[in-house]
Amino acid sequence: MAPSDEDDDSCLLVVVLETHEDLWSALADESESPVIGNLSLTTLLQQVLVFLNTFLALNEANELVVIAACGDQSEVLYTSPSVHRERQGPKHGAVTGNASEEVLKKLHALLQEQAALPVGDHARPAVLAGALSRALCLINKAQLASAGGSRTRKQPRLLCLKGSPDATEQYISVMNAIFAAQRCEVVIDACMLGASDSAFLQQAAHLTNGIYLRPKHKDALLQYLLTIFCGDAFSRSFLQLPRPIGVDFRAACFCHRRAIDLGYVCSVCLSIFCESITECSTCGTTFKVVARTPATKRKASAAAV
Ligand SMILES: [Zn+2]
Ligand SMILES: [Zn+2]
Repeated sequence: MAPSDEDDDSCLLVVVLETHEDLWSALADESESPVIGNLSLTTLLQQVLVFLNTFLALNEANELVVIAACGDQSEVLYTSPSVHRERQGPKHGAVTGNASEEVLKKLHALLQEQAALPVGDHARPAVLAGALSRALCLINKAQLASAGGSRTRKQPRLLCLKGSPDATEQYISVMNAIFAAQRCEVVIDACMLGASDSAFLQQAAHLTNGIYLRPKHKDALLQYLLTIFCGDAFSRSFLQLPRPIGVDFRAACFCHRRAIDLGYVCSVCLSIFCESITECSTCGTTFKVVARTPATKRKASAAAV
């Protein structure tokens, strides 16, 4: 079955990679078990770079952007020349050999910059929301450029490689980025390499028809990346991909940024609060607190009617 023009299998892949050196060394120390395997930043990069080069080699029209999320900043490590330059510059696919070199060079400079920060500053969780928003902006720019030019529209895809636990204080901005991706039809795939699942990434993959995966054997990351995340959207329809094991839909309250099971929702702006409020802190709507009748009394009066 040959793909039609709409099913063109070339793809624009944006990889968001958490490059927090302390995080990866902590994760490597945690899992001494040979079954689970260690994954230091060096081994992570070795495996990710092979995946990136394979992706570029798979189709000469494939385009790639690599973004590092490190501490409170995000940095673009690599951009395929064709993403910004439509008619000039090297041919598609001609930069394959330089991708690893460019990623490593920029990452080295970024890590040195982070290491120079005062102790404590570089231990903060990476700004996932910032990196996702940046990725979406780049995808949007590339899509607009292709719409105006002769290039065909690439299927945009975002792959997030994350190791740190969710930072609930970023809940609102991460969810806004996910909804923006959903609206722009950008698929978000997620590979969680930390000790526990990420509710943010589970929701992102669920809402954008992406794949969420937490590999059991982290030292076989390359195998997972090549077999699950390398295929384009068209190929996915006939591949046996991992099925979702359930999504943690818990939201974080807007008042304390805590993950909650039950909460109060503002009927005007849908803000979520962990306790009853008289005024919504987001939209300013005031609520009348109505004294609630005990359930037994309500039952009795209903029976009387
Ligand atoms: Zn709260
Ligand atoms: Zn409100």
